[in-house]
Amino acid sequence: MQTIGRPWELDESDWRGLVQRVRAGRPLKPSKWPGDARFAVALSFDCDHETFELGAGRSSVGRLSWGEYGRRVGVPRILDVLARHGVPATFFMPAVCALLDPTEIPRIRNFGHEIGMHGWIHENNSKLDASTERRLMRQAHAVLTEQLGEAPVGFRSANWDLSPSTIDLVSELGLLYDSSLMADDNCYELKSEGKPTGIVEIPVEWLRDDAVYLLFNREPATRPWLSPDEVYRIFRRELDASHAEGGLFQLVMHPFVIGYRSRIWILDQLIKDAQEIGAVWFATHEQIARYVLKYGGDVE
Ligand SMILES: [Zn+2]
Repeated sequence: MQTIGRPWELDESDWRGLVQRVRAGRPLKPSKWPGDARFAVALSFDCDHETFELGAGRSSVGRLSWGEYGRRVGVPRILDVLARHGVPATFFMPAVCALLDPTEIPRIRNFGHEIGMHGWIHENNSKLDASTERRLMRQAHAVLTEQLGEAPVGFRSANWDLSPSTIDLVSELGLLYDSSLMADDNCYELKSEGKPTGIVEIPVEWLRDDAVYLLFNREPATRPWLSPDEVYRIFRRELDASHAEGGLFQLVMHPFVIGYRSRIWILDQLIKDAQEIGAVWFATHEQIARYVLKYGGDVE
């Protein structure tokens, strides 16, 4: 991992250079959405499953079973809610998860959802040297391509942790979008070393992530716990504001976090809310990226 020991000793070209590596370029908020929709909703589910434990360098049988819950119970429950409402979503999948159960990707795809890359074994990209990172990205891309029968188009780094090379690798693999960064509420084009990359960023945020509020873990020590009702209220405010602004509501959930009996209603309710508000476009991340690449940035 790149750390800066004595940041106050950096000279101007150093700190400018560090900030410049990956930056927000052209804003890609469109003035309108398909079918006269006023706002867009992009739901995503990170299928970390067993690699949540493995990718962190641990192998506790107890915590692996937690990931297994996500695979066995969480994903089917999520698929059921989405199917009931006829809503598409994007599932980000570490390659090792896809190899542990090769039936999962086809099962998700049967419902018309998108599968995106989510690392090899849920590794932190910033901890890898450049050649290891490239090798793992290529391996993961190959596994998903084989299981999908076509190449994936989107990438989300595990723990939203990027190295200085990650976006260049995303570009090298010919991907359409990244969904790991946070420089806006709406989509934008990524710049690498000051140059436009043509890659769409579909931004995430910790506050639109179920795990931040609901994930309990003894080791490493857990984050604060909020009631599902409060989590719903935060997401609902984000949804309402995206409607008011005519923007994008993007949400990150995890099958082993949201997939429980006492929580799955949050997903169900948010979909109902968006449908009730009306003039909503539910889309996969791929659909969002393709649309904003074509029509985004036309806001006066
Ligand atoms: Zn993840």
